[in-house]
Amino acid sequence: PIELITFGESMVLFNPGKAGALRYVQHFHKQIGGAESNVAIGVQRLGHQAGWFSRLGNDEFGKFVLSTIRAEGVDTSKVIVDDRGPTGLYFKEKRNKRDVRVTYYRKGSAASFLSPDDLDESYLKQATCLHLTGITPVLSPTCRSAALEAVRIARQNGVMVSFDPNIRYTLWNSSDAKTTLCAIASQCDVVMPGLQEAQFLTGKESPRDISSYFLEQGVSAVILKLGEQGAYFAVKGHEQFVPAFPVDDVVDPVGAGDGFAAGVLAGRLKGWDWDEAVRLGNAVGAMVVQTDGDVEGLPAFEEVERFLQKPAADVS
Ligand code: ATP
Repeated sequence: PIELITFGESMVLFNPGKAGALRYVQHFHKQIGGAESNVAIGVQRLGHQAGWFSRLGNDEFGKFVLSTIRAEGVDTSKVIVDDRGPTGLYFKEKRNKRDVRVTYYRKGSAASFLSPDDLDESYLKQATCLHLTGITPVLSPTCRSAALEAVRIARQNGVMVSFDPNIRYTLWNSSDAKTTLCAIASQCDVVMPGLQEAQFLTGKESPRDISSYFLEQGVSAVILKLGEQGAYFAVKGHEQFVPAFPVDDVVDPVGAGDGFAAGVLAGRLKGWDWDEAVRLGNAVGAMVVQTDGDVEGLPAFEEVERFLQKPAADVS
């Protein structure tokens, strides 16, 4: 069976060969990007069968996205090719190390036509975990319905639902983001926001107040990503800070959150306790930031086991 299922838009990423304004860049590296497929690839490398689907354009870029994800061993049998729109694209622009911009060409993309009709109930219900991000509901009304319907199907079938709000402020109007993402979060078993995202969504400041807010709504586990500090988690009756693994050289911070989610979920699929699963998430996040690209740094389980022999950072 497929242990983790996720869906959502993956696009072709054009990464500039040099820093500076895009109008002066001649060469780009073609890669893929997508929060959900990053998590699927991460979980697959950590030793668990993952499945990902979306709608892709009937074009060369769609073929590229599909073959890249499939080559990782992720099940792509539910991917749909759609003639109504192209595969989405995006460009990074590295003005300097601290100013990295992103431009999307995704409006009207094939993935924006994802809808509840694309959800195969018998496929979804075989999974132990369904993972969603807050990107899907902002892409189109049909995408939003698909996300909500997937949560409903998963809950009805006892599939654990994990949710990373992954707020893209450029795509949302802020009050819509709050209402929609809080409504989805309250239906999920595991909610994994970054600290600032969680503060924005709940209006609370401290990890304790934030987690109480979600736990009271029926969420079973709240995990807050704290960047280079590590993570904090709370379940009913227990909360804990789990320190990060020290990293000498951060090459590319993007993708850490998806790697972290993959680590936590793979840990749970292995039957580990929350503290061990979050520690695995921290390890994967720390490994991802040391490599350029979102998926290139995602480790195989043997690699992360070797990495875990190292002592954790002392943050006391
Ligand atoms: P992004 O959206 O950029 O992928 P995020 O904001 O969702 O990331 P972060 O909190 O930046 O998530 O990172 C996720 C996890 O990765 C952290 O909880 C931590 O475990 C690990 N991590 C991130 N940055 C570092 C770092 N500099 N050193 C060590 N671990 C890190």
